[in-house]
Amino acid sequence: MPELAEVEYFRKQWNPGLGQKIRSVSLHADKRIFRGSDTSQMEKALPGSTLLESSASGKQMVFRFSKNFWLGIHLGMTGAMRVEKPDFLPAKHDHLVLFQKQRALVFADMRHFGRVRFAQTKAAPDWWAAIPPALSSEAFTLEIMESFLQRHRKLPIKPALLLQNGFPGVGNWMADEILWRAELNPHTPSGNIKGKDSKALWKQVRFVCREAIKHVSEAYADLPKGWLFNERWNNKGVCPKHNTPLKRETIGGRTTAWCSKCQK
Ligand SMILES: [Zn+2]
Repeated sequence: MPELAEVEYFRKQWNPGLGQKIRSVSLHADKRIFRGSDTSQMEKALPGSTLLESSASGKQMVFRFSKNFWLGIHLGMTGAMRVEKPDFLPAKHDHLVLFQKQRALVFADMRHFGRVRFAQTKAAPDWWAAIPPALSSEAFTLEIMESFLQRHRKLPIKPALLLQNGFPGVGNWMADEILWRAELNPHTPSGNIKGKDSKALWKQVRFVCREAIKHVSEAYADLPKGWLFNERWNNKGVCPKHNTPLKRETIGGRTTAWCSKCQK
């Protein structure tokens, strides 16, 4: 599942098209990813408008065009964005292609778990406005995080971190990285995380999001040495601090890697 940083990486792939007009649209209207969207409106209305800007929150990204057009893309499991030459011929999985004079902006999805949305409206459409504040933004405060944890007080913190209405964009490896850095046991009930533990958690949520965006979205680069991430896929993985083998367990249905020394 693409996580926050991968979503940022794919969002930027269309940057060469910013400030440029759309000439024509090619799409596979019968595909599941367009469910609930008026594809004939997209084909008719979008040509002639200019791609103005894009942003992402969690796993959802939005592309804004002149004439108040909003295009939302959720990558799902296998979605990807790329740029091709302007005379490009869309292949089987290239479900949405926006042709510009100098390039083609392509969204491909092999397994159709993604979603494309479209709206013409002045104010942000509901599907964008309803997304909670990005974790790297000022709007994500300690108080907001604490009240979310209290609403899920019995849930262990590991699955709580995967709830997208509280921690948009956090996926499995990021949750493990955050808990290891905050020195919190993944089984801890969310409601028991208070005081300095809660501050440490909030700080590490923001740190891991910021650093992951920086390293992954700019070059699809690896994360620096010393991150748990580099150890967790490896059967012989060790805690970067203690050099002792990591524990592995399924918590809330997801494989969790953690250090029993750091995270008591
Ligand atoms: Zn350790």
